[in-house]
Amino acid sequence: MKENEVVCNFQDIVSEVLIRHRSVLDCLTKYQESTARVNRSVIKAVTDCGCVSICANKREYPARDSLKDCGKYMDSHLKGKMCEHCREVIAEELGKHLFYLTALCNTLDFKLEELFDNEYERINTLGHFLLS
Ligand SMILES: [Zn+2]
Repeated sequence: MKENEVVCNFQDIVSEVLIRHRSVLDCLTKYQESTARVNRSVIKAVTDCGCVSICANKREYPARDSLKDCGKYMDSHLKGKMCEHCREVIAEELGKHLFYLTALCNTLDFKLEELFDNEYERINTLGHFLLS
């Protein structure tokens, strides 16, 4: 199955199973809630499980390096290796987040496939000038 086909099928099945949260108000609040749950699951990996820790400080990189080379000085600020349990919990929360993102797209009449394609083209065009 092609990736675009998976995205289309996912959007279709979300539309089929979504009964309670068809209102844009419900979609927006469930989407926002799912974002918070993803963040919380990552934080719980640090503060409850402890399999990973966060070690962050100011990012330093030589000013004379090109924008393309700056990437090698950036890190995730995560230390350690995430355990299987935390990976499963985070994956589940990310899945729910995708569900509510898709529900919001359905409510607003956006095709996920088009959003992916448009964003891919934008990133591909801007390349290293995309400062995010
Ligand atoms: Zn863990």
